[in-house]
Amino acid sequence: MLQFDSALLPESSEALRPEIRQFLQEHMPLDRRPNSDFLSGHNPEFSELLGSHGYICMNIPREYGGGGRSFFDRYVVAEELLAAGAPITAHWFTDRQFAPSLMDLGTEHQRQKYLPDMCAGKSYFSIGMSEPGSGSDLAAIRTTATKVDGGWAVNGTKLWTTYAHRNHYMIALVRTEPRGENRHAGMSQLLIDLQDPSVQIRPIKNMGGEEDFNEVVFTDTFVPDSDVIGELGNGWNQCTAELGYERSGSERFLSTFRVFVEFLKLFQEPPNDLQAAAIGRITSNIMALRRMSLSVANMLEEGKMPTVEAALVKELGNNFEKIMPEIARLAAPLSADKREFNQTYRESILLSPSTTLRGGTREILRGVIARGLGLR
Ligand SMILES: Cc1cc2nc3c(=O)[nH]c(=O)nc-3n(C[C@H](O)[C@H](O)[C@H](O)COP(=O)(O)OP(=O)(O)OC[C@H]3O[C@@H](n4cnc5c(N)ncnc54)[C@H](O)[C@@H]3O)c2cc1C
Repeated sequence: MLQFDSALLPESSEALRPEIRQFLQEHMPLDRRPNSDFLSGHNPEFSELLGSHGYICMNIPREYGGGGRSFFDRYVVAEELLAAGAPITAHWFTDRQFAPSLMDLGTEHQRQKYLPDMCAGKSYFSIGMSEPGSGSDLAAIRTTATKVDGGWAVNGTKLWTTYAHRNHYMIALVRTEPRGENRHAGMSQLLIDLQDPSVQIRPIKNMGGEEDFNEVVFTDTFVPDSDVIGELGNGWNQCTAELGYERSGSERFLSTFRVFVEFLKLFQEPPNDLQAAAIGRITSNIMALRRMSLSVANMLEEGKMPTVEAALVKELGNNFEKIMPEIARLAAPLSADKREFNQTYRESILLSPSTTLRGGTREILRGVIARGLGLR
């Protein structure tokens, strides 16, 4: 059964909106993206600036360098950054899942060592799940970590690793025991230093011509025991818990939001019926997705595991962000100067094939939803 508990942003979180908008007005860098994609703008200077203003790791305790604020405060700031097209890729995975994950599962040594730089927007992490032959079927990973004196020797290849060529660390899912009858057992999460000379990183061009993801090859890469995250052998459960955060955020339906903004700017005259219907359709979709996303965020905060609901947010959100530019294009006023609109529209079309792949493909999510509804 699906369960979307009602959740509203507290007034104290809403109150952050004017502050972050003012910050963006003053500090938006020149490489601001024409779209709102969370993977399209890796800008360490901007991430550091956000960190120095307390806008990264807002819900991490102050003693580790975080803001000691609520999860909803982070939600509001993330939403504003995405809507504005701010370049936030460098710290995105750190802020969204790895800092909270180190808070939950990390040792005191790991928290003290990694969290302050993460919170300051100076230390960037990549997700090391997918491999050649193991994307949707994550349990089929073949990267191994073999026990050696004082740590682990990692061998294998990760694929499609976003910004591994510019980030500092990867949290990788690896096999620490050979695959047995229970294929979800025997996997662990390791924190790997991507600057280690044994790590080979080869960028792959995406269809927009940019290098944002990579192939990462480990050859006897040494990882000390102190960099095992959480419980040895519990990697599968730790990764799947992270997927709730990965799939339900507003980045899953706002990637093309700037197209809507540029579309609205085209109207010098009141819209005709067709145009009004298009504006209404887009607005109502965003409002519904946002309520669902907030509900999942709230349930995650309460320690629940809304796996199916998170999959539904991503599935509906990705479909919406894919068709929304076309709804806007068809309803755009003919006589308007469309240079800005066309630029963001073009970027969105180049980006759109990736949205229903990254973070879990459409077919896999529909499988999760069908299972949750008792249909398979
Ligand atoms: C832009 C981008 C960024 C990414 N960043 C990262 C990252 O930082 N870290 C990371 O680990 N991964 C990353 N990925 C990888 C992403 O998670 C995988 O591409 C995705 O999980 C699909 O895996 P795959 O590419 O191996 O395709 P496959 O799993 O081979 O799937 C191919 C096709 O078969 C379908 N299919 C597969 N199994 C089934 C099934 N059981 N039933 C029905 N249909 C099925 C899929 O839906 C898909 O259409 C990224 C991907 C993209 C596009």
